[in-house]
This record gives sequence, C-alpha cells and structure tokens, in this order.
Amino acid sequence: MQYTSTRDHTLRVSASQAITQGISQDGGLFIPESIPELSRKDWDDLLPLGYVDRAVQILSLFLTDFTQEEIRRCAENAYTNSKFDDASIVPLKPFPGHLHVLELWHGPTCAFKDMALQILPHLLRCAAQKIGDTRKIVILVATSGDTGKAALEGFQDVESTEILVFYPNHGVSAMQELQMVTQEGRNVHACAIEGNFDDAQTSVKRLFTDRTVADALNRNHMVFSSANSINWGRLVPQVVYYISAYCDLLKSGALTFGEKINIVVPTGNFGNILAAYYARRMGLPVNKLICASNSNNVLTDFITTGYYDRNRDFFTTISPSMDILISSNLERLLFLLARGDSDKVNGWMQDLSEKGCYRVDDSVLSELQSLFAAGYATEAQTQEALRQTFQESGYLLDPHTAVGMSVWKRYEAESGDHTRTVLASTASPYKFGGSVLSSLGLRPEEGADEFATLRFLQQKTGAPIPEPLLSLQQKSVRFQDVCNQNTMQQYVFDVLGIE
Ligand SMILES: *Cc1c(COP(=O)(O)O)cnc(C)c1O
Repeated sequence: MQYTSTRDHTLRVSASQAITQGISQDGGLFIPESIPELSRKDWDDLLPLGYVDRAVQILSLFLTDFTQEEIRRCAENAYTNSKFDDASIVPLKPFPGHLHVLELWHGPTCAFKDMALQILPHLLRCAAQKIGDTRKIVILVATSGDTGKAALEGFQDVESTEILVFYPNHGVSAMQELQMVTQEGRNVHACAIEGNFDDAQTSVKRLFTDRTVADALNRNHMVFSSANSINWGRLVPQVVYYISAYCDLLKSGALTFGEKINIVVPTGNFGNILAAYYARRMGLPVNKLICASNSNNVLTDFITTGYYDRNRDFFTTISPSMDILISSNLERLLFLLARGDSDKVNGWMQDLSEKGCYRVDDSVLSELQSLFAAGYATEAQTQEALRQTFQESGYLLDPHTAVGMSVWKRYEAESGDHTRTVLASTASPYKFGGSVLSSLGLRPEEGADEFATLRFLQQKTGAPIPEPLLSLQQKSVRFQDVCNQNTMQQYVFDVLGIE
C-alpha cells in the first residue's frame, strides 16, 4: 500500500517513507491511499488473539513494506508486561447500564499516548533502515503534556535518535512537567516554550518544513522526524485498540457480531478519534463517534455547523491535553470526506492559516454529521461528571475522561440513542491529582507537594497510584530551559551541536 499527501494527491510514498519523514514536504499529512477492510474471517482470526498478535495483524494491513516478523518484533518490544501494568495491556471495564470504559493508560507514562509511542521508535528505526537512511533521526515534539513524556520515554536511549520536546510554559499539569523535566537518557531534551500548545505546534511545524534548517541538519548527517500524531506511525497503532476492544466485547458476550457501538473520545488534536474512524472504515460496527471537547470547543462548533473558527478565546482547563484550537488530524478526515480532493484541502488549510477559519461544503458536512456527534463540557460539568461517577460507582476518572463522560451523558439524554458505548479513558487520574481532588470537593493540606496530594487522593479513594508516578519523587530535575518562537531554532541547533 502506498501513501499520499493531504495537500498533493498525486504524491506516492511507501509506509517507511511516510513514517521516517513524519510530515510531507508540501505541509500536508501522509495518508494511506486506500483503507483495508476486515473480512468476517479476519474478525474470527483476531478474536482469540492477545493484544500483540492483534496489533501485528492490523498493522500489517497498513505497513505493507514491513515484514510480519519486523512488525512482530516492534509490537513485542512495545506491549510488554514489564512496561504495562495490566496483563491485557488495555483493560475494558464494564459499567452498569451499557457503558464500557477502555483504559488506555496502563503504560509507562500513564496516558494513552504510550499505546502509540511505545511502538513508534521501533517502527521508525525499522523504517529508516529499510529505506537505507543512516542519518541520525531528530524527533521534534510539540506537546500539550502527555505526548512529550510518552515520546521521551519511548525514545530514551534509542540508538541513532535525538529527541527534543517543547511544552507550553505554565500550560501543563505539575505532574506532567515533573515527568518531562526528570526524564533520563542521553538523547533526550525538554524545553518550555512561551505561549500555548498551538504556538508550540505551529513553531515545530515551521521548523520541520524550513528548507534551510533541513539543509543544515543534512550537512550534519541528521534528519527531522515527528512523534506527534501528524506522523502516521503514531496514528496507526491507535486503530488497533478500538478493534481489539470490539473483539473483547464479543468474547465476553456483551455483544453479538455486527452489533453497533458508539465510541466516545475526549478529543484535542483529533488523533485518537481519527483512529476510531479508521477502525470504522475497516469494518468496526460503529453507530456514532462522539467527539468530546472541553471549553476549547472549536470541534463541537465545527461538527455542528461545518464552520471551523479558531478566532476565539483560548482557555486553560483542568484537561490541559485537550487545550487545542488547531486540531491537526482533522485535515486527514477532511481529505477523506472530500474524496481525496487535495485542492479543496489546500484551500481550507490556507484559509485556516491566513484567516483562522474555513467552511466546508454541504456534502462534506452532511457526511461528517452522519458519522460524528459532538459536544463539550464546561469546567463545572467536567468536575461534576468526575464527582458523580466516583459517588455512584467508586470509579475515579481523570479530567479528560470526565469530559467524555459528561458529553456522553448529555448526548444520550438528548438523542435517546442508547447504543452500547465504549468511552476511551485517556489518562490515569493520578496525572492530574490536584484537579481530581478538587473535583471531589477535597483539598490537600496547606503546602502539600504533588506526592502528598497523590497519597491523600489514594487514601480518600482507594485507587492505586501507578508506580511510574510514585518513582518520580526520587528523580532530580534535568531540564529548566525556556525558549520562545524566535529562539526555538537556535535552541535546537545548540542542542544538536550545529553551528
Ligand atoms: C492527548 C490527549 C487527549 C487528546 O487526544 P487527541 O488524539 O489529541 O485528540 C485526550 N486526553 C489525554 C489524557 C491526552 O493525553
């Protein structure tokens, strides 16, 4: 299977090229030129398998220039019980009624980003070898908090790679920042950037597509790649868990084959929900994909009206990984809904960068609305969903997942759609201890540090604290740099030792 670009449908590259390059030179995102479909037999074959084997089957359909053995090696290195603290890798927890919660955060950094970032470094190394590229791979990451740590952890000491992470100064949770600035490894760097996530992402994208920067790297036998969800290698592993969850539902007898489900995804950059859309196109029986936003509700408005408008106030919320006004992966969905018309996509993206807004045509909008529902939760609604869920079932949600829960409850009440639902749970509540605690109406003692907060939360709720978070207490801070959009390039050159 070949890959094309959302901004130039005549382009053709292999999966390996798409993954090593990260983003297309024309500024577009790589996208497979067709979507494989699962036959009834494929589903039957997937059913008895464990997570690694399901991943191998599904990834093989997209990464056709990799051998099965190569993909297996990547998957086995990624999804191990030394790194994931649940034997099934992604447990699916039944709730009363017709809800299941898909816990995607049992990896080493306690957020769903591990599902992709534990395997991406292996895929990337393998892809680079395959196309004979011996240059050092320099990973640039813009993060709203969780991607940064997951990428640092995934790439730590991976041979022939260097990773630089940029996060919004004062825009991530205390635990998220601590996770990043204490990261160990000889090839890792974390730096705060003045501005919000969109500023960080825009600056990183600009560096990526700057010819003179690329030439300077190349002279030093280096090349950029991306670990953000603009990289196809980040996205495709996420398709696996939606299909795997359906297999688990079938196995447990909660569903019969072909029965549709709704999927609720707390959304920021539109990566996770796009993976669910791909799973649907592959044959996963889905009724609605429910896109849940926080007060930065640009996607709710877009899905409701077809008008995307980022010219609005930016809110810093208790679900910081969703504080985003430019959802990069939406571009891939637009390309698919516009039937591969890259001229149209170019027009919209140009409007977005010049005017901050664009409007899609009616045919795109009606298809969008036939598949997607959307809603958002205010801060108060998010806290209420978190508190109520704990009160009713003793289950602790993180604030992002609480956004999803809140949106789903309102969706169900308003639409009367009682389809069995899978809620993607994107982070451990302990990554956002302070916000979780205050949502429950509790307060740690005056002057308590992050770890005292965690212990207090555990005492009050009984939910276990993940070991990777506890162990941060013994680690020392390694990174304290702050840069801005203008000094970012120099920072990158300094770190890489480029004159
Ligand atoms: C990244 C993240 C999200 C948003 O996911 P997207 O793929 O960017 O839409 C939601 N919740 C958490 C905890 C995250 O880390």
